[in-house]
Amino acid sequence: MVSRPKRIVVIGATGSVGGSVLDICERFPDRFEVVGMAAGSNADSLLALAKKFRARRACLVNPTCETAAKFRAEGIELVSGESGLVWLAEMPEADHVVFASSGTNAIIALQRALEADKDVSLANKESIVAAGPWVMPLVRRPDQLRPVDSEHNAIWQCVRDEPEASANISRIILTASGGPFREWTVGRMQAAAPEDALAHPVWPMGSKITIDSATLMNKGIECIEAMRLFSLPHDRVGAVIHPKSFVHGFVVFKDASTKMIFSRPDMRLPAASALAWPERLPLDGLDEFSMPPMTDWRLDFEEIDAERFPCFGTALEAGRKGGAYPPLLIGADEVAVEAFLEKRIPFLTISNIIELVLQSYSGPSPNSLEDALALIGEGVRLAREICSAIGG
Ligand code: NDP
Ligand code: MG
Repeated sequence: MVSRPKRIVVIGATGSVGGSVLDICERFPDRFEVVGMAAGSNADSLLALAKKFRARRACLVNPTCETAAKFRAEGIELVSGESGLVWLAEMPEADHVVFASSGTNAIIALQRALEADKDVSLANKESIVAAGPWVMPLVRRPDQLRPVDSEHNAIWQCVRDEPEASANISRIILTASGGPFREWTVGRMQAAAPEDALAHPVWPMGSKITIDSATLMNKGIECIEAMRLFSLPHDRVGAVIHPKSFVHGFVVFKDASTKMIFSRPDMRLPAASALAWPERLPLDGLDEFSMPPMTDWRLDFEEIDAERFPCFGTALEAGRKGGAYPPLLIGADEVAVEAFLEKRIPFLTISNIIELVLQSYSGPSPNSLEDALALIGEGVRLAREICSAIGG
């Protein structure tokens, strides 16, 4: 029996994952009511969405002067900045907060949502990679924090009904589509333009994560994300290329049994499972969500080529070392990807910049969230310095 709708806040509502989350909310109005939403600076889109979903509260992290009046005219309360994200994340009228913004400025809001005992669906991987040690201890109950990133959502679905899951997991394996350059030579990759790297063969996503998918930095970051979310050491988390992206992740248990989750590569599916848990929404049977006939399934897997995709190994090494390295990696990657998108550096230089940032750091490990945030800033600063030194 369905009780009153769950009251949802969507942070990053105007983005790609935010759109997937809202699509699910729109299909099931008896189950989900969107009460608040946030975006970075896109006031017009946020206002249109807030009106469509009748959300009464909104936050723009970087508003312009005139925006508050436009929202007020529609009866929508608008707040701003990171403190506005915190206000939305802990508001008493919300049951469930979805973190689907890019970047790292919702970390404190994420902490507050967990502390306020909200259910949390997490797509934003940068937060958990850079600040996992200060976020994970705030999770109060099983399944309070639900991964939306498709691979982690698959692992969560495999382990959430397993008693003693962490003691029984031998290892987990995430899948990667391989991105647009899976079959490209190094020479061709060197000359790749942003348009080439943005043409992802499987997943339509925001530009930052799409470039991270082309370098396979995304898969390395996801390995660290998995270490954090499932409390696993680096040597029990791996990744494999699976071009069709029907399988999202495997869990190998210590009795040599393996579970995996199959579904169409569509972010609305992990979003639906995270939003609805412990219910399952009736989506199977709809053409857009159902798997193709079994005879069309291709369970092909390949190793990741470390030479053509050095970012993958760089991220794994940052995860192995821990401490300062994950937040430095997140900061440096942000800058290197932006420089490539602005055509200031060639594609393969992204990995050189990040590698140099990690090598040049010799300071301490973070002892607090403030230290971790400062290290993201240090990654940004060092990467910018290297970029300008090479003329980028
Ligand atoms: P998009 O670029 O499509 O959307 C980003 C969202 O974040 C927009 O709503 C944007 O608002 C908002 N935003 C941008 N800057 C800020 C800021 N400074 N403060 C607060 N909000 C901001 O990204 P994606 O949807 O692709 O990705 C979002 C997150 O989910 C990322 O962490 C990504 O790694 C992760 N993820 C994405 C997947 C995907 O399929 N896209 C899959 C798995 C994980 P505005 O419109 O105003 O700029
Ligand atoms: Mg993913």
